[in-house]
Amino acid sequence: MKNLAPPKIDLVCDLATFKESHQEEISDLTKMLKKRGKELWIQTSLADDLRFQQVGDNVSFVVNQNINFSRHCLGTCRFCSYSLGGETEEVANSRMSLDDIKMEAEKAVARGCTEICIQGGLDPKLNYDYYIGLLKTIRSVSPDIHIHGFSPSEVAYISQISEESVEDVFKDLANHGLDSFPGTAAEILVDDVRKIICPDKISTEQWVNIVITGHSSGLKSTSTMMYGHIESLADEAEHLAIIKHLQSISNGFTEFVPLPFVHTNTVLYKYFGARPSSTGMHDLALFSTARLYLGEVIPNLQVSWVKLGPKFSQVILGSGVNDLGGTIFTEEITKSAGGTFGEEKSIEEFVELIRDANRVPVQRNTLYNVIKSH
Ligand code: SF4
Repeated sequence: MKNLAPPKIDLVCDLATFKESHQEEISDLTKMLKKRGKELWIQTSLADDLRFQQVGDNVSFVVNQNINFSRHCLGTCRFCSYSLGGETEEVANSRMSLDDIKMEAEKAVARGCTEICIQGGLDPKLNYDYYIGLLKTIRSVSPDIHIHGFSPSEVAYISQISEESVEDVFKDLANHGLDSFPGTAAEILVDDVRKIICPDKISTEQWVNIVITGHSSGLKSTSTMMYGHIESLADEAEHLAIIKHLQSISNGFTEFVPLPFVHTNTVLYKYFGARPSSTGMHDLALFSTARLYLGEVIPNLQVSWVKLGPKFSQVILGSGVNDLGGTIFTEEITKSAGGTFGEEKSIEEFVELIRDANRVPVQRNTLYNVIKSH
């Protein structure tokens, strides 16, 4: 995103001071992320025990549907193959009208979804009225489906085009039906890494402040981390420490979702020396570290089956994980980066995967209240 003023927000967190005062913690976390062999299996087993103490044997999932409303994006994130530039036929076809949104929302309701998840590009053809219209349209279809939408990067963009403060944007979106927002666009919360992987995206400080502003407007969010590209283990550790610190300020995160980099079609992999995603051992070390370090303040740890596949997701349930994410139905972002694990899982498939792991399948809503135990 170029030539746009930074979003208008007051800073609530001094990251330089934070990093300095958390050096020892970051170094301990780096050691946990480094573990391999027998030491790693001991760590995963400890994480599994802690998961049982904190959230029991339930493995939850949400029945939801994604709406990716436009692939046109002013962003230049090098890990993203979803975004398209220019005004091509493909771009025009990807841009959903409010009638298209209405149709998708009706399908979601007919499928029994409890959540609609909205994300799209920073599309210069869409104005503030479109974003509000999108929410109103979904609300006209269902007064109570949970609308989970707009990453901190999208909120920053909406703030810029509307010339409203981030706080006012959150309030306005919430007044028109937004219930919570995804803590995506976090990638790795270290600016030296962001300069390479997403040079025009909001900075770490902006991400932090937008998220805290959203939480103080009464909206909950997820928290995420995209790993397995150019970052070091110390960068991952710093990211985890920032997430924990933010939770101590706002208590607004519902879950933590580690998202392995999907590399195949990305510029970051082809031209910027990124690794071809994480290894399985890296995944196990990260998930177990996340449970051991964050579990007390963020008890829900989600594995993304879209990124890691159903088989490995089932295995990683034994490393501290208690949530399998959503049924999704349509998914464009991972698929365009080269993801091959599909776009949809049925409730029956989730139940079978979870039972086979000797755990208890439960359908939840977005805020982790149990709807149905299977
Ligand atoms: S990650 Fe989001 S902001 Fe970045 S290029 Fe892709 S769609 Fe645009």
